[in-house]
Amino acid sequence: MSTRTSLTRAFISLLCSTLLSGGVPPAAAGEAQYVIEISVDGGGSSYIQSLIDLGDLPNFKRFQTQGAWTNNARNDYDVTVTLPNHVTMVTGRGVKGVAGTGHMWTSNTDPSADPAALTYSIQNNKGAYVSSVFDVVHDNGLRSALYATKSKFSLFDHSYNNGNGAPDNTGPDNGPNKIDVYVNSADSSSVTDSFVAAMKSTPFNYALLHYTDGDTAGHASGWGSAAYNNALVAVDGYLGRIFELVTSTPALQGKTDIILTADHGGKGTDHSLNSEPLNYTIPLYVWGPDAEAGADLYGLNPSVRADPGSSRPPYTDTAQPIRNGEMANLALDILGLSGVPGSTLDQTQDLALASPFANGECGSDNGKALPAAPVNLCNAGVASAVSGAGPWNWSCTNGGVKVACSATVLTTPAITTASPLPPATRKTAYAVALSATGGLPPYTWAISSGKLPPGLSLNGTTGVISGKASKTGTAGFTVKVTDTTGAMATRAFSLTVR
Ligand SMILES: [Zn+2]
Repeated sequence: MSTRTSLTRAFISLLCSTLLSGGVPPAAAGEAQYVIEISVDGGGSSYIQSLIDLGDLPNFKRFQTQGAWTNNARNDYDVTVTLPNHVTMVTGRGVKGVAGTGHMWTSNTDPSADPAALTYSIQNNKGAYVSSVFDVVHDNGLRSALYATKSKFSLFDHSYNNGNGAPDNTGPDNGPNKIDVYVNSADSSSVTDSFVAAMKSTPFNYALLHYTDGDTAGHASGWGSAAYNNALVAVDGYLGRIFELVTSTPALQGKTDIILTADHGGKGTDHSLNSEPLNYTIPLYVWGPDAEAGADLYGLNPSVRADPGSSRPPYTDTAQPIRNGEMANLALDILGLSGVPGSTLDQTQDLALASPFANGECGSDNGKALPAAPVNLCNAGVASAVSGAGPWNWSCTNGGVKVACSATVLTTPAITTASPLPPATRKTAYAVALSATGGLPPYTWAISSGKLPPGLSLNGTTGVISGKASKTGTAGFTVKVTDTTGAMATRAFSLTVR
């Protein structure tokens, strides 16, 4: 995979998009080889931000200072409960969606508890195959994993196993089991440890981690309660272990994006009312080489997403908010893979995580003193016209942002020391430095005609005439100065030795 900087990659992406499609902003840059997605179950934005502001969630805060983020993402329009929203997150479809695009998994109970458990799957429920991020990752020969802390997540393991997963028709046949490792335990700490250990040995290109802590405490004690806050603090600790994993493991460092979102928030001890802002207002944070530090995701995506304010836009609105259901296609975009078949959320993978690398870059003539009009105008971007005798100003434009460049006129050199030179005294130490202006220093000095008084000499580098004159009298000579471009000047001097 590429070791180019994300800015370079973004630049190339911009260049291509500018050339090929008339200025579409770049999508996620696709620098990372690994994507870790984290779902904070019940992690409402306002609760998280309050604790960040109190200094209680340093690792949540790290996403905001070092990553691209918003606290104003939305979950599914129709359903604000866990399992349907996670199906949305991995399939890139709304729950009901519009015009039959939904994945249609509306139940929030553990399907494995059903007597018909052996036949349950997302596709059996919909009556058609529902592809997922796991399908695309796996079918392209990459490793996928799901680490979950609620037993109902068996839905995914069961929907994408050897019995229910689709045939792999992409490249080599990697089999129908789309999730390489599935771990399920109610113990978030041990799930984290298990994940960290697995990533250190054989990393997953794509992994989804689910933390139930906030949701469990919210139902028991209320969203915003001390128990709920403590649960988010615990999740912050798990996030810290994952940051530590990525930053201390050479194979992952600089090659891993972490995406954090939630399935829903909550109010009181519930979150099922889809019209309640505290239920539908969730974070979406991205940290890693593809994400611009401290950037607002809506600010980065002014033409393709719209900040919904406090509203809850339906899927039919032209201006769509950033949604948790974009995680699947965002992850695939980062990994350089095309979107989930049949998905509708970020299907074109146009969510940008960093600013367009819009600067042109001045060429090597920028800032120089030149004898003629500059020719090395731009290293990147298109140069504006340059004409005239100088000084010259031009710009390099790449994607709309101009970089200003300039060059000054190279003047011819001139010797500024006046003649006659200060007199010397015979057999006495003498030193006078000649000086020059213009041209392009450093200068080279020489006697071009005549002779210095015997005993004195001219230093060709420093322009200093020095020594002890041995005879009295007046000498006449011409000094030549040459700059690095070969331009020269001469001046006649007389020097009397007394
Ligand atoms: Zn819940």
